[in-house]
Amino acid sequence: MRKKLFIPGPVEVREDVLARLATPMIGHRTAQASALQRGIAGKLRQVMYTDNEIILSTSSGSGLMEGAVRSCTGKRAAVFSIGAFGDRWYRMCTANGIPADLIQSELGQPTTPEQVEAALSTGQYDLVAITHNETATGVANNLDELAPVLARHPEVVFCVDAVSSLGGHRIEVDRSGIDICITSSQKCLGLPPGLAVASVSEKAYQAAKKVPHRGLYFDYVELVDFVRVRNHQYPSTPSLPHMFALDYQLDRILAEGLDNRFARHTAMAERVRAWAREQFALYSNERYLSNTVTCVDNTRNLPFATLSAGLAERGYEISDGYAALKGRTFRIAHMADATLTEIEGLLDAIDALVG
Ligand SMILES: *Cc1c(COP(=O)(O)O)cnc(C)c1O
Repeated sequence: MRKKLFIPGPVEVREDVLARLATPMIGHRTAQASALQRGIAGKLRQVMYTDNEIILSTSSGSGLMEGAVRSCTGKRAAVFSIGAFGDRWYRMCTANGIPADLIQSELGQPTTPEQVEAALSTGQYDLVAITHNETATGVANNLDELAPVLARHPEVVFCVDAVSSLGGHRIEVDRSGIDICITSSQKCLGLPPGLAVASVSEKAYQAAKKVPHRGLYFDYVELVDFVRVRNHQYPSTPSLPHMFALDYQLDRILAEGLDNRFARHTAMAERVRAWAREQFALYSNERYLSNTVTCVDNTRNLPFATLSAGLAERGYEISDGYAALKGRTFRIAHMADATLTEIEGLLDAIDALVG
């Protein structure tokens, strides 16, 4: 039986969106390709509440995350981690020989403004990397709390991993002063994996120009220059199928209305939380719960293999806990085009298994 995915990426993709991947190819150096990329950028600017440049990457989001720290760190990066994905961003620094420090929070807790202020007041750093929504714990950092700290340190390039939240959670890039905001196609945007996008501020672009060895494929200067100078093109051959599908999906997202879309995510998140409190418990700090993924504390010590096999028979798939939280928690994603009715169906199926 085909399983409906409630995992935090890849997510279910609507049939009509999938069909757009089969659009006949065009030359990637044509005016048509430029128009496609320009159109996508304009729509993404609305979803991201920004006037910044938009770049695309034929890779998953990790490519642009690695490219951001490699392209824009002149002195030293401060990487704030609230779980597995923040830890991985730090490893991208060390693997590239980028001077960096890892500032971790306890699992289930957010990054605090005090942590950021303490680091930045040392004057050692010119780049900050923060996970907006930690998919391992279902914690969403509060950008309204963190942005004012960054605003007091205008020399710092502010990078945000919004891979599992952009499109499901309101992230106002310009109001929050985010210089680089990154997401992937296979999460809240509701597309198959294979494309990543980022917004890039002029400050980030100018900072990158001063960094001598930025690599090439994920070089933010090259990616931005191809948009600006080469009229919205891409340095190598981009995944045109993803671009056709993204362009179409962005029309759907804007037609739904951003407010409606975020409200739908909130309604699904609240339903899953209420259910989890009743049947299990929530793993993370209640004040910072994610709109797009819920990490359930497995208080019944249910073997995940049993849960997963039972759900598979009913046509559903959810995720085990991530890394250190494997077995201790499990995760339900409520993102992209999922509906409250579908969530009810999933929760009923779990109830039938756990009693
Ligand atoms: C999925 C995810 C990533 C990795 O993205 P890829 O597209 O798989 O490279 C990074 N950060 C967060 C928070 C994620 O959820």
